[in-house]
Amino acid sequence: MALTDALTGLPNRRALDVWAPRQLSAAARHDFAIWVVMADLDLFKKVNDTYGHDAGDTVLKSFAEILKVITRQSNICARLGGEEFLVMFPHADKKGAQTAVERIRKQFESKKFTFGNNTVTLTASFGVAGFCGTKPPDLNALVARADTALYAAKHNGRNRIEFELDSGV
Ligand code: GH3
Ligand code: MG
Ligand code: MG
Repeated sequence: MALTDALTGLPNRRALDVWAPRQLSAAARHDFAIWVVMADLDLFKKVNDTYGHDAGDTVLKSFAEILKVITRQSNICARLGGEEFLVMFPHADKKGAQTAVERIRKQFESKKFTFGNNTVTLTASFGVAGFCGTKPPDLNALVARADTALYAAKHNGRNRIEFELDSGV
């Protein structure tokens, strides 16, 4: 349980810290690209404020389910805390990563939630950073780059995917 997020059942930050460095080493050694995606629900505070904390929890679980289904093969997804999630896509090129993230974005956007008499839809923003090379990168550095891209996605209007500028893999 120490590696699992209690609300969503996803791996937590600690699990990521165990698993991700191994994947990054493997990517460097076997020469495959890896993409780190930071996802953050849009205007999520408003869901809690308007419909209550339980409604917010329902939304978090629903987003986690989308990640679980889409990333079931060799990928890892984790809840970092709050309404922030991380997904890693190994063995993908930039276009493949883009397609995978776009699928997540679209699925969440099209989901309808019913809270009391209200039916609402929500969105999420995504920041992506890529790695391809011979020296394994530091997980925190990669996450920080994805976070920069996420900030840009928020700044550019939310419900969108931005790639970090150096992600020319
Ligand atoms: P932005 O689009 O800029 O990301 O806006 P936001 O409202 O999503 O961002 P903000 O960081 O202000 O709000 C995050 C909210 O997430 C605030 C906090 O109460 C809520 N939150 C964090 N963890 C949980 C949780 O486990 N359950 C619920 N229901 N809410 C949570
Ligand atoms: Mg946030
Ligand atoms: Mg948010």
